[in-house]
Amino acid sequence: MNETNQNINKRCPYCNKIIVGRTDKVFCDDRCRNNFYYEINNEQKTFIRNINKVLLKNRRILRTVNPSGRTSVPKRYLEELGFDFNCFTGIHKTKKGKLYYLVYDQAYSFDDDDSVTLVVFYRNAQSVVG
Ligand SMILES: [Zn+2]
Repeated sequence: MNETNQNINKRCPYCNKIIVGRTDKVFCDDRCRNNFYYEINNEQKTFIRNINKVLLKNRRILRTVNPSGRTSVPKRYLEELGFDFNCFTGIHKTKKGKLYYLVYDQAYSFDDDDSVTLVVFYRNAQSVVG
């Protein structure tokens, strides 16, 4: 059995050229391997950076709208400020079954009348919501 023949049709995941050489070869050469992982790394960093941007913007909005630590606003008002309800850092369920969506130390919950209650959830790293 010729080991080189087993590489027929096996292509480099970076440049898509047919791999020539040992059967365990995955990339043409070090350059293709390095470029491949560099791009994956970059995509992941960009992805995470974009989510972090949304989270920080959400937190900034909550802090600005809720300086007293507890308030209620129409849901639409937050949306108009650019708040993204799909982006939060956690969910807390109170003993009464109410759900709070956390954005770091800030939190919000949905009320029946299309408004949103905002609370400061953590103060000095201690939860202030039951
Ligand atoms: Zn290649």
